[in-house]
Amino acid sequence: MPLTTVHTVADLRATVAKWRADGLRVALVPTMGALHDGHISLTKLARTHADRVIVSVFVNPTQFGPNEDFSAYPRTLPNDQKLLDEAGVDLCFAPSVDEMYPDGFATKVHVDGAMTNVLCGAARPGHFDGVAQVVTKLLLQALPDCAIFGQKDYQQLMVIHRFCADLNIPVEVIGADIMREDDGLAMSSRNRYLTSREREIAPILNRVLTDITQKAATGANIGPLLAKGREAILSAGFDPIEYLEIRDAHTLDLVTQTVMKPARIFVAARLGKARLIDNQAIRPANIAG
Ligand code: AMP
Repeated sequence: MPLTTVHTVADLRATVAKWRADGLRVALVPTMGALHDGHISLTKLARTHADRVIVSVFVNPTQFGPNEDFSAYPRTLPNDQKLLDEAGVDLCFAPSVDEMYPDGFATKVHVDGAMTNVLCGAARPGHFDGVAQVVTKLLLQALPDCAIFGQKDYQQLMVIHRFCADLNIPVEVIGADIMREDDGLAMSSRNRYLTSREREIAPILNRVLTDITQKAATGANIGPLLAKGREAILSAGFDPIEYLEIRDAHTLDLVTQTVMKPARIFVAARLGKARLIDNQAIRPANIAG
């Protein structure tokens, strides 16, 4: 079946209702478009969990700060539709801003607590409230059985788990592995902001994370590892580094000495016009999991 695109919640719901009547399982993959192989890998994972796959394409204004790249964010719907069609996706939901936030819209979804104040939450105030708002809406609009999110945005995935549990949203939230270019750079819609020189530099970010991960996993003191990593990232040309931190994989509490439990290293740094983020799991060598 070729890809169908709908632009309204009513049309989305009518399509899902037909599938439901046939007893089919439905998966949703929320995106902001400018699709790449990272997004496509989520649709493949979605297919293993459901009979029908919906991809939403919506650049959500409420998760961008006043000085961020909302207007400049790439919008490539015809190409996105082509990629989704080739990937065998059933439905593309591409609402307008007015469809999502009509006149009089007044409801916020605020996720409290340490998890939203650190990392990207510290640098982008209100960002996760915007994410929680739009993801809550998308999940209630489509009411899928499951929704797939990438670990590329690991903190976002944790926040989504939190509010889905807190609000009893009856959708299984599934995390997907990070897809990388051959040189290790995490795929991202924002990579297209990089000049060719910057594109050559960018993979250093992942090399630094991998190096720290390997040493931290075998019990090295992380202070000096992070200091050396910062130096390598800055001298490659990134400026500034927003954060380079190791945190507990579940609570996102800061780890300061050695890694004793499953943890994660997180980085955000600016290279030219692009703000790049990446992360990796650190599994201490002396424990499983
Ligand atoms: P975005 O369009 O950037 O909002 O991303 C939509 C979804 O795709 C989010 O769940 C992201 O975490 C996920 N995603 C983006 N890049 C990647 C990647 N390189 N690997 C896996 N998932 C990704």
